[in-house]
Order: sequence, then structure tokens, then C-alpha cells
Amino acid sequence: MSEAHRESSSSPMGDLATLSAGPKRTETLRARRSPLAHVDRQLELLRNVNLESTQFGGDFQRAIASCNPAGLKAEKIETLQLNLGRLCNMTCRHCHVDAGPDRWREVMDRETVDACIDLLAKVDPETVDLTGGAPELNPNFRYLVDECVSGGKHIIDRCNLTVLLLRRNEDLPKWLASRGVEIVCSLPHHRQRNTDAQRGEGAFDKSIKALRRLNDVGYGRGDPTKRLTLMVNPVGAFLAADQCALQQEWTRSLRENHGVTFDNLSALNNMPISRYLEWLETSGNLTSYMKTLVTAFNPATVARLMCRSTLSVGWDGKVYDCDFNQMLEMPLRTPEGDAINVSELPVEHLLGRRVKTGRHCFGCTAGAGSSCGGAIDG
Ligand code: SF4
Ligand code: SF4
Repeated sequence: MSEAHRESSSSPMGDLATLSAGPKRTETLRARRSPLAHVDRQLELLRNVNLESTQFGGDFQRAIASCNPAGLKAEKIETLQLNLGRLCNMTCRHCHVDAGPDRWREVMDRETVDACIDLLAKVDPETVDLTGGAPELNPNFRYLVDECVSGGKHIIDRCNLTVLLLRRNEDLPKWLASRGVEIVCSLPHHRQRNTDAQRGEGAFDKSIKALRRLNDVGYGRGDPTKRLTLMVNPVGAFLAADQCALQQEWTRSLRENHGVTFDNLSALNNMPISRYLEWLETSGNLTSYMKTLVTAFNPATVARLMCRSTLSVGWDGKVYDCDFNQMLEMPLRTPEGDAINVSELPVEHLLGRRVKTGRHCFGCTAGAGSSCGGAIDG
């Protein structure tokens, strides 16, 4: 892929560009009654981007067929990803969930949590990946973690860091450490101005404070039972920079400037969904970003797309191929067309199922690829 399509990991120009052009903190689409709060409008917007001149005409099915004639199918379930709700203490501009403090009604209830625990026994994934919103704000979070620990699962908590500073969560770093939970922390940038531009003033300082608390209980210090991964994303209309280069840059910057350490870094592409889609449209970047994604299609990523090895459950119990399909309301359906609920999932039909795709999928196959585990190719 062209380097011009990638965000620079170190160039001051790349940094300055993101400052003027990058997304800013906002309110949820729902709270602003934005038309894009409706998924149909998001899908229509994506469909209407003129990608005729790009390879595959912007058709993801054609892109997949070019390297995998059998199409995209689920092969195994290594990871069960549970989205515990849209509630979050922040409202970042790039959020693909449209999460925020006003989404308190959309939180997974105990009955659905128990159905997910039942599903664990049936599909036996290696990893349970807890996401949101801020999963720690779900009142059933600790109950669910303990149930997963009893089942011998590797657990990932996708944490926005600032949530750890809430009074009710003061003991959470120690509590998670005692259970061997891996913490994957999202932090857009190692520089204050870039992170605050996307997450709101003060977000960076709070994140550093939270990282110190995690370091204090042993996270991010090389102990495999207390793994701390940072998940970073471009603050603008770019692809993620090279993951290895970013890891070196972030390790040095966070250690030297703030005295904090982490174990691993995952770099993600922003998905053209929800609030990031809104920012792309209003900033005039939508067509160029979609062209960048399609042009950078990398066939080497297809074998390891996360939908091939993941099952995703939404806060209301509906089941999806991945978290992004969840946000675009593309659930697994019965032959009659009804969305399947986790409590009635026919697990014998999960493997070999055809994955639902759309133009947003080019976000996963662009450049080095992108998944909840970071880059796919390389
Ligand atoms: S912290 Fe994560 S879930 Fe919450 S608003 Fe920001 S991007 Fe969305
Ligand atoms: S968006 Fe989901 S379904 Fe599409 S390629 Fe990515 S992981 Fe697979």
C-alpha cells in the first residue's frame, strides 16, 4: 500500500494534520437526533459513495472472491465477544458504537448475561472478550467475569481507562489483577493534545492516571497473568501506521514522559460506522477515506479476519459475526428472517456459516488489516 495512505507514526506534519483535521469530542448521535442515529441512513450513506473507479467497484464480495472464491465463512469460535452495552462515561468522536452517558437503557441484563454463560459451555471458546461502551459500567460485569474465570476462560476487558477513576471502580485494577484478566485499553494517542482532541479535554491526563494505577498492581510489567495492551487508532482520515513502529514510539514516549509501561500495542483502522462515519461526512473526507480503504485492500488479511473465529453478542442478546456488524444491525437470522437470540442459538449451525458483509468491511482488510487484536498481516 502507499505510505501516503498511512498516518505517520513520528512525523510532526502528520501530527499537525490530525490536529486541524481530526475528530473532536461530541455527544451521541442519538442525543443530537442525528439522522445517522438510524442504521439505515448509515448503510445508505456508505452505499452512495461513488467507488466505481476503485478496484472491485467498491464491492467487498468481489474483493473477497478475488482471493477466496468460497467466500467469507466462519471456521471456528475462538473468541466470544460480549457487548455489555452502549453506556459509556465518554463520548469520543470516532466511536463506532455511538456510546455515551445517555445510553443507560441499552445495557445487558442479568438474564441475557446468564444466557451468554450458558453459551460459553456450548461453544467453548478460548477467550471471552468484554466490550461496550464501557463494560465495567454494567452492574453484572463482576458477576460475569467471575463466571468466566470459573469456566477457565481467558478474559479480556476492553477498558477506556478513564472509567477506572470513577469512585465505584477504585478497587477494580486490583480486582481484575487477582483474576488474571487481560486489560486492553483504548488510547488514541500518546500525546495529550491528540487524545484530548478526540476524547475531550482532560481525557489524556485521566488516562495516564489510570495507567499508573494499573502499573501499581502489576499490569504492563511483563507478567503474562497481568497483560496490559494499548489499543490505538488514527486521529483523522488515515489508516493505522505500522504497528511495530507505533509500539516503539509509544513505549518510549509513555515511559520517558509519564513513567508508565504496557506490554503490547494494537493498532486499528477506524471503521466507517456511526460517529466516525458522521465525522468523515461532515469533514468532507468520506469518499477519499473509502477509496483509501478499497485501494489498500490486502488479500493476505482475509484468512485471519476476526469474523472467521469470533461470535459477537449484543446487549439485547442478538448474535452477530462481529462487533461492527452488530453496530450496523446485521444479526444472524433464522431461515424465516428473524434475528436469533443468544438463548436460542443453534450452535450446530455456527461453523461454516456465511459471514454478512458490506462496504464497512474494507476497514478490516486495508493495509496491514484491522481486528480487535490489532493488525492482521505483519
Ligand atoms: S470510550 Fe470507547 S465506547 Fe466510550 S465513547 Fe469512547 S470510543 Fe466509544
Ligand atoms: S467488519 Fe466484521 S464481517 Fe466485515 S470483514 Fe470485518 S470482521 Fe468480518
